Amino acid sequence: MHLSIRWFFRSSARRVLANIFVLALLCNCRCTPKQVPPPVHPPNFDANRAFENLKQLCDFGPRNHGSDGKAQAEKWIQERLNEAGAEVSLHEFNYTPVQSQKAEHFTNIVGRILPAAEHRVMIGTHYDTRSSADHDSKKELRSTPIIGANDGASGVAVLLEMARIWKNDPPPVGVDLIFFDGEDFGREGAEDDYFAGSKAWVWDHPDYKPVWGIVLDMIGESSLRIMKERTSAEKAPRIIQRVWEAAERVHSTAFIDKKLGAVSDDHTAFLEKGLPVILLIDIDYPPYHTTQDLPDKCSPESLGQVGFAVMEAISAPH
Ligand SMILES: [Zn+2]
Repeated sequence: MHLSIRWFFRSSARRVLANIFVLALLCNCRCTPKQVPPPVHPPNFDANRAFENLKQLCDFGPRNHGSDGKAQAEKWIQERLNEAGAEVSLHEFNYTPVQSQKAEHFTNIVGRILPAAEHRVMIGTHYDTRSSADHDSKKELRSTPIIGANDGASGVAVLLEMARIWKNDPPPVGVDLIFFDGEDFGREGAEDDYFAGSKAWVWDHPDYKPVWGIVLDMIGESSLRIMKERTSAEKAPRIIQRVWEAAERVHSTAFIDKKLGAVSDDHTAFLEKGLPVILLIDIDYPPYHTTQDLPDKCSPESLGQVGFAVMEAISAPH
């Protein structure tokens, strides 16, 4: 490639002009604070009630596959959805884990808000917890099932509070709340066993096509910072934009305008099918997969920030 001297000078001059223009813009930004429009719908989410949901789930004990805690949580989630007037159904499926000959039985729970509405949004989360605290600092605790206050209860807590609010103040579109089973069923050397519930759901419902969706996972920790997960941002940029703009309107400052690396989760099966479903997660959580993932690491404020933002994103014009 060859560039002439005259072109070089001309382009430098252009660059100087461009820099002056950018400086002027920056100066202008500093002088005029950004105007954030008001919420489309007045925020209506009780963060303390959501936190009570989180504590109740933890009181059932670990909710790993085959546990009493999971059976109790399954029943309790359905009761809360029924109370909220949602149309409740179960998606039951069998899955044979890697390195096993025996099929295991799993249950996704679905709560449909405004079941007759054609235009539908999917909000999902997992309700199972991990059977082993494999990241615990104490070796002897690494085969203990976790309580999963953040990883398992936080998303359920938010979804159930939204359902309660919508009973008297319904959303402008139909919403399918899906509580996935078997998300944390994978183990080291058996990665295919993760996300069993969402994979089975997508496989068994080839005609299920929500207009868009969100998966919530680990959104309850006290110092919550949610960044834009890479695969979500690449494959569903408009939904990322919708949610971050909604978060701004309701002053949910936990939503950070930064990219996060790619994370596989319950949204992956949807994205692979071409459905724009994003993941909201904060993976920077020291008690992750330890016996210390307990309610005292979580806060009502964090659940509230997510609840406000997600409800506002659903209220925004479609
Ligand atoms: Zn987990």
